[in-house]
Amino acid sequence: MHGLMMETPLLVTEILRHAVRSSPNQEVVTRLVEGGMHRYTFKEAGERIAQLAHALVALGVGEGDRVGVMGWNTHRQLELYYATAGIGAVCHTINPRLGPENAGYVMNHARDKVVFYDETFLPLVKGLAPHLATVESYIALSATGALPEIGDKPVHNYESLIEKHPTTYDWPEFDERTACGLCYTSGTTGRPKGVLYTHRSTVLHALVLAQPNVGAFDRGDALLPVVPMFHVNAWGVPYAALMMGVKLVMPGPGLDGESLYEIFESEQVAYALGVPTVWLNLLNYVDQNNLSFSSLKHTMVGGAALSERIIKGFERHGVRVRQGWGMTEMSPIGTTNVEEDDWSELPEEERVQIQLRQGKAVPFMQMRIVDDEGNCLPHDGESDGHLQVKSPWVLSAYYEYDGQTLTDDGWFDTGDVVVIHPDGRMQITDRAKDVIKSGGEWLSTIDIENAALSHPAVANAAVIGMPHPKWQERPLLIVEMAKGANAEPAEILEFTRQQLPKISWPDDVQTVETIPLGATGKVLKTELRKQFADFTLP
Ligand code: ADP
Repeated sequence: MHGLMMETPLLVTEILRHAVRSSPNQEVVTRLVEGGMHRYTFKEAGERIAQLAHALVALGVGEGDRVGVMGWNTHRQLELYYATAGIGAVCHTINPRLGPENAGYVMNHARDKVVFYDETFLPLVKGLAPHLATVESYIALSATGALPEIGDKPVHNYESLIEKHPTTYDWPEFDERTACGLCYTSGTTGRPKGVLYTHRSTVLHALVLAQPNVGAFDRGDALLPVVPMFHVNAWGVPYAALMMGVKLVMPGPGLDGESLYEIFESEQVAYALGVPTVWLNLLNYVDQNNLSFSSLKHTMVGGAALSERIIKGFERHGVRVRQGWGMTEMSPIGTTNVEEDDWSELPEEERVQIQLRQGKAVPFMQMRIVDDEGNCLPHDGESDGHLQVKSPWVLSAYYEYDGQTLTDDGWFDTGDVVVIHPDGRMQITDRAKDVIKSGGEWLSTIDIENAALSHPAVANAAVIGMPHPKWQERPLLIVEMAKGANAEPAEILEFTRQQLPKISWPDDVQTVETIPLGATGKVLKTELRKQFADFTLP
């Protein structure tokens, strides 16, 4: 028997309505790309979002049209999220770090109708323009002077474009399964693939992220997403923050240690979210300059493995580290690891080991581990296999893609090799494509990297599997030394080994000037494999 309740659609528009109605005076503060700071209230944001919606319609953007955005985290990109969704269009956030070839590929694949860009990315946009078949006009988000020429297409200034329009909009109601956002994977293995979020998936994801045991945001705490809005919707923070009435601080283009520290202090940021490399840079800056945080209480680290060094580095400054795990294909949150009541009683080392796990599945996230034959494995903390997931905010198919996205029985294979502990915490041992097969064993590159990273002279570390005549593959440790550090590679190797079981000992260590990072700040092991293709282990 069906129940008898209304089926009003779960629309992103309702998040905006709620934010304006319940927290009209809450602030969004932005470090502008063009310099200086911008601040306004949720109420004013709502008014500009209405103006932008009118402007989009005037540009010919209709239901289902893709609106390309290549921008930093700013109030303008926030406006684009809500205005495009509100009129039933799709906000296609483009990662400028994809490089020209892939950026052009995704814009053509998405068939973007208009493209908004921050001034920083003008050279990229100009270079791509002749190859973009579907784009009808360009809008400069942060232009201050005369507008550039971009091919033979009209170019507008964002502010002049929206200012003439009314500050209210009669938001339409439509099916909650309507697409509202499009984000491509970073394409480290093959071409980027599109993930097309719906209003329903976005709203449900935001509701879950807003839970005290998931995002664990505090209403009174200013939130700062360092994670870019072009990377899986900044992990959903722009939706959850407005839903919760939390102050949102947008860092603009300033993601280096100094700029982040400055805005944390000036805006009294209490909680910031981003990938590990960002935090290592920030901690270096703070430590080298003998600074301390006056407001920062929490960081959430995700997107790549968290290291002990980050946990302890922040704790020295009284900041607690939380962890999140997810994927572009999962909107992205799958698990979070936030502190629990009994943590304060645990010995530090035991607690840190728990913090290093990726965390517990969030509500409505189903997880299973399967072996190579597809058999389900127990959650005993020992059986490792492929992690597969199901949830209302996991994709059902890639956008306009011919291949198979899900398993035959409807699960999404994450490509991560994991164990799930009896306490419910999932722990990644590796990406399936990075795992090292040594003899009959699978070795975790993450464990070896974390061991190396706890040496103070190591700025970054990556482990790749090298062919081995006897063992099939053995680990090679590659390190980028911290500036000014003068430790010998042999010392790093010895230090790393001391912390690991013998089977995981790296066979050798090599140093590189910089470890290559991909479009989302993660180590590009594909590049390292190429670089060391001719290397032979001793
Ligand atoms: P891409 O796959 O395009 O690089 P994603 O951001 O979607 O971009 O990457 C998802 C992958 O990132 C996950 O499958 C996992 O391997 C890795 N990842 C995400 N969060 C964590 C985490 N907390 N710890 C370890 N790895 C993580």
